[in-house]
Amino acid sequence: MITMLKDIVHKKISITCAVCKHVVAHKIANLLLVVDEDMTTHEVRLRATCPKCLTVGDNSYTVE
Ligand SMILES: [Zn+2]
Repeated sequence: MITMLKDIVHKKISITCAVCKHVVAHKIANLLLVVDEDMTTHEVRLRATCPKCLTVGDNSYTVE
């Protein structure tokens, strides 16, 4: 399912690194300060960098 960030502004996305299992949660409203509102959650996932092991794009995510 494709979800654009502008459709989930009041939610948050939790990204779990596939390599080290580090979890980072972002408020969508905060993400929109730095990315376009038409970006999809899938694109966010691909661009996400793990702050712990610096792996890029290898993760899973949930929106809640
Ligand atoms: Zn990691």
